[in-house]
Amino acid sequence: MKVRCLFTLLYLLFMTPFAFAQNFEFYPNAKYNPAIPTLEQVIGHKWGEKITMHHEVEKYIHQLAEVSKNVRLVKYAETWEGRSLYYMIVASEPNLSRIDEIKSGMQKLADPRQIAVTDADRIISSLPAITWLAYGVHGNEISSTDAALLTAYHLVAAQNDSLASIVLQNSVVVIDPMENPDGRDRFINYFRQTTGRWPDTDQQSAEHRENWPSGRSNHYLFDMNRDWFALTQPETRGRVKAYLEWFPQVFVDLHEMGSNSTYYFAPPADPLNPEMPASQIEMLKKYGRNNAKWFDRMKFDYFTREVFDSFYPGYGEGWPMFHGSVGMTYEQASARGLVVRRDDETTMHYRETVQHHFISSLSTAETTAKNRAEVLRYFYDYRRSAIEEGRTGEIKEFLLVPGSDPNRAAKLANLLQQQGIEVKKAAAAFSNRRVEDYYGGGVQFKNFPAGTFIVSLAQPSKRLAKTLLDKHTPMDDKFIKEQLRREKKKLGTQFYDVTGWSLPLLYDVECYRSRDVSLGNFAVPGAENSNAAIQGGKSQLAYLIPWDTNAAARGLATLQRKSIRVHSTDMEFTLNGRKYPRGTLIIKLKDNPNDLFEQLTEIAKTENLEIIATNSSWVDDGVNFGSGNVAFLQKPKIVLAYNTPASSLSTGWTRYLLEQMYGYPVTLMHTEQLGNADLSRYNVLILPDAFGSYDRALGDGSSFKDWIRNGGTLITYGNATQWLTGEKVGLLATTRELKGGKADKDEKKDKDEKKEETKPDLTKPFDVEKEIQPEKELPIETPGTIVRVALDTEHWLAFGYDGDANVIVNSRNIYTPLKLDKGTNVGLYMPEDKLVLSGFIWDDSKKQLANKAFLLHQNLGDGHIVAFAEDPNTRAFMDGTNLLLLNAIFFGPAH
Ligand SMILES: [Zn+2]
Repeated sequence: MKVRCLFTLLYLLFMTPFAFAQNFEFYPNAKYNPAIPTLEQVIGHKWGEKITMHHEVEKYIHQLAEVSKNVRLVKYAETWEGRSLYYMIVASEPNLSRIDEIKSGMQKLADPRQIAVTDADRIISSLPAITWLAYGVHGNEISSTDAALLTAYHLVAAQNDSLASIVLQNSVVVIDPMENPDGRDRFINYFRQTTGRWPDTDQQSAEHRENWPSGRSNHYLFDMNRDWFALTQPETRGRVKAYLEWFPQVFVDLHEMGSNSTYYFAPPADPLNPEMPASQIEMLKKYGRNNAKWFDRMKFDYFTREVFDSFYPGYGEGWPMFHGSVGMTYEQASARGLVVRRDDETTMHYRETVQHHFISSLSTAETTAKNRAEVLRYFYDYRRSAIEEGRTGEIKEFLLVPGSDPNRAAKLANLLQQQGIEVKKAAAAFSNRRVEDYYGGGVQFKNFPAGTFIVSLAQPSKRLAKTLLDKHTPMDDKFIKEQLRREKKKLGTQFYDVTGWSLPLLYDVECYRSRDVSLGNFAVPGAENSNAAIQGGKSQLAYLIPWDTNAAARGLATLQRKSIRVHSTDMEFTLNGRKYPRGTLIIKLKDNPNDLFEQLTEIAKTENLEIIATNSSWVDDGVNFGSGNVAFLQKPKIVLAYNTPASSLSTGWTRYLLEQMYGYPVTLMHTEQLGNADLSRYNVLILPDAFGSYDRALGDGSSFKDWIRNGGTLITYGNATQWLTGEKVGLLATTRELKGGKADKDEKKDKDEKKEETKPDLTKPFDVEKEIQPEKELPIETPGTIVRVALDTEHWLAFGYDGDANVIVNSRNIYTPLKLDKGTNVGLYMPEDKLVLSGFIWDDSKKQLANKAFLLHQNLGDGHIVAFAEDPNTRAFMDGTNLLLLNAIFFGPAH
């Protein structure tokens, strides 16, 4: 009987999921202070029993901060959808009471120029080290947030736990439990709606497969784990600001990956960014080893040194590294719900995934606490050696010239300042004897105008400044050789992200690297109040806005939104001795509101925009305002395809660009609805880049053809452009190319061609290398490389440019240029020797891409087809190409 009872008990304990959950042990032999509330007491569910939503997290952390003397809560930002972002400061009471002293100590260590070595010694011997744990930047990587709550709880509630006590005593743990609340709640709402009476273990079931767009991204569908230096999103801006207040020595970004995987932690895979010193890799190993010790003890599987690299500086793991943090990504296999059956025939519960992140969090905090002085010393030395590298290196500084769009240069300078990089601005002109430009000008003497921005590398943020501003960040030769080998065998390459991100190139701001330290009257630029006023005062005839700045486009967007009538010239003209470029906006008093002057004055001020009054249309040269070459700009009414196959990223970037960067409305419409929609209410339709083809959603596009003929402007990027070229659709008279340059035609024709092939010649040896090559293959993917495009500046799509633009190629798409009778090749990739600016490119791709099409224009009736080979607005961090897209939107309907 007894044996049977025991058996029944064991059965109940281990075989029924509920009983198992009751006894699940997150931490060995844990005992907790009953005064500290658990998640269950505040919210109603146990740790890892449910996926906790934002409002529940909010409630719990407020409660925790209220009850525990070891927790302080700080709100650091708000999402687009109005959810608050917080971090918890977890520390001993004495440390919490001297938080200001600790933060100021970190500021001092972060700038070794400001303190004596003895001061540094004193700070290092007296202050705790900072571990920053950030959870769930990808909202559908769910376990991280629940692990964050459990980590905070454990640290403040655990009794007789040596780990918790040393962590509280020797360190401050900053816990950001939820980096992307909008995405997380999007996931959970979907999950709760699709889950039935019992959670389903099948990975194919609806509850494990999100709708488009997934919860990975934020409201504007950005991957915020790429945004750390671009700072386009409020969540990222808030985090960077908070980071710079604290300068944590350790920063961990906790993620999830596919359900069949295990757990990943540092050290990372190759390639490493060359700005990372060897000492940093050693620190990564120290943290990795302690995690491994814990994982081995708990019998959790893990891997290191594979898949996740540390090259791109915009990751949550990467960006802090360039400031001297030990930056790490942790990845847990996701349950993507509450329970999932894995390919290895095991069942993984949500609570286990929470537990893994919880243990790695504690292990990380433990490593910092146990090595407190070493970690602080490391951080101080990192910052000190960064200054030294900058002082003694070949390149001493970067010089950013205000050029034709001073607002854009100022935006770039401000972007650097926002992320802790010191920038100065020249009050007067100066010269430098040894500078080199980004387009191969060689070392030269150059005069720089007042307003030039100077970024000296002799600063503690040198490594970040260098990798963001340098033209090219090289990859390790060994890594490149390995990719060549893998590509040859078709093993798949290991580029994890884009390989080019140089900010001066993306912003198209003239930049010089200097080998001498510039001397002049330089000062830190402050926030500048625009005092732009209308030049020439109130006009009796018209106002002019030269079309060569991003601010001009913002001005136009505002004017169009306010339904003010605007004209634009297709030809240059000279008036009162000044030359006005193609595209210049002409705002006539006639047919416009009486308060036009006041409205324009406001726009000039808000946008820091140059607006010129003229009382005459009598030009010295070129066209008058009444010319047939001056077009009335119809108000754009824009539709953007939303939903599969469109890439949610590409869709979100475009929406963000229009709504937030330029202040213009756009209507989102489900892609599959576009074929039946009443498009007559719109004159611009944008099909973003896509995963796969638009074939299924849009068919042969016949429903759009009349709309275009009647004056519609269809804009496509990337794979959407490929859809236009299909034989059935036939909206663009070009083809995507196969590897080697042949057209990517349909299968049937290929078969016909094959019939004509001759029989193999058996007298010659069989060339196995040649014969095993695939018959039909797209060119190998170019991994996010910045290349140069030559523009046809007579075409309205290229107005505002002086002949070239820098674009990112991040695909396998290569399009043959249009024949002259079919359309215009407004943008062509430059010849091979001038093509590549930054990032990696395969030799074959370079040869094949040269002189091929980037931006194509074709007429259909009264309308236009505007096709980009790539997304011209990748990550919304390419300010230099904004006008190409805005030209299509604002000038298309007028032509
Ligand atoms: Zn992730």
